[in-house]
Amino acid sequence: MVTPQQAYQKYGDPAIRSLEGKYMTLWTVPAPLRQGAIPSRIYCNKDMIAPLSQAFSNLINRNHIDELKTWDGCFNVRKQRGSISAMSLHSWGIAIDVNAATNGLGQTPTLSPGFVKCFTDAGFDWGGIWTRKDGMHFQLSKI
Ligand SMILES: [Zn+2]
Repeated sequence: MVTPQQAYQKYGDPAIRSLEGKYMTLWTVPAPLRQGAIPSRIYCNKDMIAPLSQAFSNLINRNHIDELKTWDGCFNVRKQRGSISAMSLHSWGIAIDVNAATNGLGQTPTLSPGFVKCFTDAGFDWGGIWTRKDGMHFQLSKI
């Protein structure tokens, strides 16, 4: 699992906003992938484009796209919820949240195993299996 320390080493301190341009991009999602709740543009880490494209393709090709109800964001410079020091991987744009309304922190996730596999097959870790469940959350499994 990617740690905040690894992200610091690869991308730098997210509090230094002038570094952001080195690893963040406003990605225009290719038209064939723009289905259902998939946004047309996503401000994300450049390292997310290939795995997110694959995850979106999987959702479409495996008929899980209707299960994506809401896109709840990617880039957000903040600490991990409940932590006084550890930065969230959202701070480097290498994590996303989906279907937040029904997959809240600490709650039993409602995403189907097939939906989750669309992301884990594409190179993401899922927060729904963590001790403190974060079912809405997917993050890159390596950087
Ligand atoms: Zn998240």
